[in-house]
Amino acid sequence: MSEFSTPMMRQYHSIKKKYPDCLLFYRMGDFYELFMEDAHIGAQILNITLTGKAGGKDGRIPMAGIPYHAVDVYLAKLVKAGYKVAICEQLSAPNKKGLVERDVVRIVTPGTLLDEKALEKKENNYLISIGMEDEKVVLSVADLSTGYFAASFKEGNFSQWLLDELARLSPSECIVEEKLYEDAEFLKLLKTQQFMNIYPLLTWKTYASDADMLLKNHFGVKTLASYGIEDNRLVKQTAACLLGYLKETQKSTLSHIKALILYETDDAMVLDKSTMLNLELFSTIREHDTKGSLLSAIDATTTAMGGRLLKAWVKKPLLKKELITARHDCVAHLVTSKKQREKIQELLSEITDVERILSRLSVNIGNARDLINLTLSLKKILDVKKTISLLPQPLFKKISKDISKDIEEIISIVEKTIVLEPPIDVRSGGMIRNGVNSELDRLQKIIHSSKEWILDLEKQEREATGIGSLKIRFNQVFGFYIEVSKSNLSSVPQSYMRKQTLVNAERFITHDLKKHEEIILSAEEKANQLEYELFLKTLQEVLSFTNAILKAADAIATLDCLCSFAQISQQYKYVRPTLLYSGEMRITQGRHAVVERLLGPGNQFVPNDVCLDTISQSVLLITGPNMAGKSVLMRQVALIVLLNQIGCFVPAKTARLSLVDRIFVRSGASDVITSGLSTFMVEMVETAHILNNATQKSLIVMDEIGRGTSTYDGISLAWAVAQFLVTHFKPAPKTLFATYYHELQALEEEYPKAIKNFHMAVASSQSGEPVFLHTLLSGGASHSFGVAVAKLAGVPEEVVKNATEMLHSLEKRSQHQQVSAPSEISVSKNSLATHFLVKQLENLDIANMTPIEAMNTLAELKERIKLLESSSKNFLEAD
Ligand code: ATP
Repeated sequence: MSEFSTPMMRQYHSIKKKYPDCLLFYRMGDFYELFMEDAHIGAQILNITLTGKAGGKDGRIPMAGIPYHAVDVYLAKLVKAGYKVAICEQLSAPNKKGLVERDVVRIVTPGTLLDEKALEKKENNYLISIGMEDEKVVLSVADLSTGYFAASFKEGNFSQWLLDELARLSPSECIVEEKLYEDAEFLKLLKTQQFMNIYPLLTWKTYASDADMLLKNHFGVKTLASYGIEDNRLVKQTAACLLGYLKETQKSTLSHIKALILYETDDAMVLDKSTMLNLELFSTIREHDTKGSLLSAIDATTTAMGGRLLKAWVKKPLLKKELITARHDCVAHLVTSKKQREKIQELLSEITDVERILSRLSVNIGNARDLINLTLSLKKILDVKKTISLLPQPLFKKISKDISKDIEEIISIVEKTIVLEPPIDVRSGGMIRNGVNSELDRLQKIIHSSKEWILDLEKQEREATGIGSLKIRFNQVFGFYIEVSKSNLSSVPQSYMRKQTLVNAERFITHDLKKHEEIILSAEEKANQLEYELFLKTLQEVLSFTNAILKAADAIATLDCLCSFAQISQQYKYVRPTLLYSGEMRITQGRHAVVERLLGPGNQFVPNDVCLDTISQSVLLITGPNMAGKSVLMRQVALIVLLNQIGCFVPAKTARLSLVDRIFVRSGASDVITSGLSTFMVEMVETAHILNNATQKSLIVMDEIGRGTSTYDGISLAWAVAQFLVTHFKPAPKTLFATYYHELQALEEEYPKAIKNFHMAVASSQSGEPVFLHTLLSGGASHSFGVAVAKLAGVPEEVVKNATEMLHSLEKRSQHQQVSAPSEISVSKNSLATHFLVKQLENLDIANMTPIEAMNTLAELKERIKLLESSSKNFLEAD
């Protein structure tokens, strides 16, 4: 590249050469400039002007610039578009002679973004590395913005395990060894993670061969035994590559990464991607909106750390009764002691994102204001500790213990040294308190007295010259100067030396002024340098307490989640579940945590009882027309089970729950055309996954299995799947199985000890339209009301009419041909009406109703009962 004519361009190219896979942000004064190919990319993605720079014999060099103060916004955009950016700074002062020294100080990638504005407050930003060897895969994960660093591995058939982990972590970046990157099959597997940027790590081999040393040096230990990875070569290598890459990009020691956690996925419940999607845990299926998700319904956390932890909890429900009970105990206390909870939440709301401040400080992009914000939050954390320190619940005790005495020490270090409102820039002074350092105090005195001297001089000169408007000012180019307006120039004394002419004024200096200028500037330069050194020293002292800060932050996040559970439980009348070992699950008046709120107070949600046991009903076969509420009911059970196992109370009147080892939810058509599989294929892949991975302790929700193919194929598959569940496992996994294939109801007779038929009650109005009661009743249904629902949906009259005729003729034909007759279940009109009425009355919370609400509810009930009575002829269940 020596053919580049200007020294600057030669410097640019020598740096760019070292970072071929990055866009280079080359600092020039107040701008970062992009050149050549980078400039084209930048201009296109950032929507900035592409200009050119004369490049001597290189011709015009394409160039695009962005102002340095807005760099974070631009970085976030480029990184989101999948680019890595190397930030190249000026390392020597620009006013010195010759070319300014420059080098890359940091590489920003999707998984190493640290800018507060670019990161979601309540989301982790995970970067992962994956190592593979024979039949073993290792996944190492880090969140640079919080200091989290962990690894896990799987031997044997690992594809599903890896997919589940990717779905749980949802990383923004993944690095792999070059040779793995070239493995098309493996890459395809990784690419199922739509928003993950995948890069080959060219230095993988170097880090891997030196893995032990790299990890030991980083953690300052002689052996890796305490991390449980001493004998696990591939884990060490994969983790070392991740750490090496982080150091390579951050060019810092990363002191906030304090430990490597070797986690086992068996410690917590694994939720596969399809289950997370179908339960709409983090976003809705249709709109991909977080509003309407379970997380948004139960998130009342007030800190960013609590928000992130809550999400992690929802992704990893607990499997051990003691751990769940520990959370329930705290939630119970916080529900009954509302005042105390509110006080804690008030304190929590004043705590900033301690984890992210710490990470910025650790990679040298923090400032003195960060130190002050950190201590302000640490003080609040101590106040929180005071409020819970006497509580007897073990988890509260642990939280209190995790906020250690070191926190006081950190506060005192910062308060002693840093002023309350320091500037953002760490190199221009104004950060350190008086009395911290005698040399600094001496320099400050000089600066102060010289500034006073200049003020005095201005006064004296005005008097001596008689020029009232004479000013003494300072600028970066000329230093101090005396400014006199043109009209007063005749009064300027001989001793003034002309320096600059403006339109309306002249600027002068004097020998004395020059002398004092030198004193001030050199004292200021020295003082600023000294302040910077003192800031770094304080920073190092604070960072030596990183462990204590991270532990306290985690304690605060835990408490925040518990408070959130308690607040939601109280506000929406959730109950504490009783935990059982029997395998039984008995929910009375259970509700769907999200749907009940979407329906709002006017549109009352109908609660339902659900019982699953190991003696006579482990599989509930639920029939009922479209729109009857089958999906809501089944998901509501799954959500109640999940809420229980993350330690929250549940939306029900009572809940007696045995713990489950997994929750599987498979439903209808999924929108996965991008995966290269057809809708029905996806349905079958997911079904196979459930059947291969469920145990008798699992909870399975199967919504419309076999719907995506022809009727006979569908019925046969659905039949065989249900049969497999009851014959393959003893007892069968707790299963909610919704189907339109009424033929399946015959399974109840065949497996009376496992399968029970249920249906969602529906009446029909005088005009023959279905009235959905959303009530689960025992016995099967024999109508699907599909055509009636189509009519409600606004399908043209003619289509509805023809469909009705077709339906009648098909029904007649099937009466003659029925292979395996579904059991005829008859439910009397009166029993349904009574059941419905009793349920509704039980659910009324009269104490909290206004007289008007009570009147309206009564009128509504009367109306519904009238409908039930009038529909006696068309009554679906008695058909
Ligand atoms: P399909 O077979 O057509 O998928 P479905 O039987 O699964 O229908 P859901 O999707 O569960 O029906 O429910 C349809 C609508 O009925 C829901 O969107 C909700 O508005 C309402 N609904 C369901 N359950 C209840 C309930 N328990 N109380 C009040 N409204 C309910």
